[in-house]
Amino acid sequence: MRRERIVLAFFVDALGWEIARRHRPFESVAPHAYRQRTVLGYSCAAQPTILTGEMPSTHGHWGMFYRTERSELANLRPLRFVPPFVVHHRRFRNPLLRWHRRQSGFTGYYNFYRIPYGLFDRYDICEKNDIYAPGAFASGTPSIFDDLAAEGLPHRTWTWTTPLEESFAELEVALTTEPELRFVLLYTAFLDGFLHDHVGDEEAVAEAIARVERLVESAVERARETSGEVEVLVFSDHGMTATVGGCDVMGTIGSLELAHGSDYLAFYDSTMARFWFTHETARKEIVDALEGIDRGTILTDDDLKREGVYFEDGRFGELIFLMDPGTLVVPSYMGERGPRGMHGFTPDHEDSHAVLMSSLRLDPEPAHIRDTYTVMRRLVAA
Ligand SMILES: [Zn+2]
Repeated sequence: MRRERIVLAFFVDALGWEIARRHRPFESVAPHAYRQRTVLGYSCAAQPTILTGEMPSTHGHWGMFYRTERSELANLRPLRFVPPFVVHHRRFRNPLLRWHRRQSGFTGYYNFYRIPYGLFDRYDICEKNDIYAPGAFASGTPSIFDDLAAEGLPHRTWTWTTPLEESFAELEVALTTEPELRFVLLYTAFLDGFLHDHVGDEEAVAEAIARVERLVESAVERARETSGEVEVLVFSDHGMTATVGGCDVMGTIGSLELAHGSDYLAFYDSTMARFWFTHETARKEIVDALEGIDRGTILTDDDLKREGVYFEDGRFGELIFLMDPGTLVVPSYMGERGPRGMHGFTPDHEDSHAVLMSSLRLDPEPAHIRDTYTVMRRLVAA
């Protein structure tokens, strides 16, 4: 039996507009390319925006961790007594994460990185549920998966839990054996991981993109064999910026006559530092120190509102210090040293932009990653 129509959506994490413009991948299956503005933050903010069509201040997911006094991670605190070189080593951390996922039942994407375990009664994970399934958001914001479930539309999804080649192999089988299939969303983190290490090495980047491209082309060919009409989308959540150096924000703040934990709290992400204050003196001293750093900016409430990441209760930070494009917070809770490429700088920077490529010409143009939701909805409903 041949299906009438299918929509294939390929979500290639970190395939930026600039890289897509230089390498022109996916032209044979999705020739119409659109530059998209991303959201300020990381994939844990951008992906929910793509899946819901809403900004972080609405769907509620911005940072991977938010400030709370009722953290479900508090049972990890005894690990603060294990030496850092053991507890933060991947041979310890990876099994710990697997164990934690099993015992907590959390199905979303998270990592403990190098966050001091003593802080886990102050911070909790935002993405506790699989965002590629219905009912993911505590805010109640519906995603495309709630829509698909409500409409009973036959679809399949592959996410970060399945390696690249495996997910495409499974997709090809599904295209052949599931004639009722109408929509596919296949997410891959492969290029994101690759670009963190290799951005700027154009030859290596071209090869990595070609590897994804071959898989996409093969899947589209299989879909065409088994379907009447095939529509294709290839899109991303953000780009990748080559890093130029690091800035020891942690050292600068740590040298103040303030106690971390009692006077203030600081969460050191790779491109921003987020602060909470117990009293005004702490706020003033930290603001003064940050204003002395010339490679970053304190974001105003207006900046945050404009980017759709303002939260009145300050759960993601009462003050956000954002590094200039290319400069990392080093060291940070993400690592001792920075990678070659990073995202999470200002969405205004040319290397921050995401891309959406489509088999159909789109009008209006999807100029922001939140428009990807509308595009998917429209194509599926057509
Ligand atoms: Zn990344």
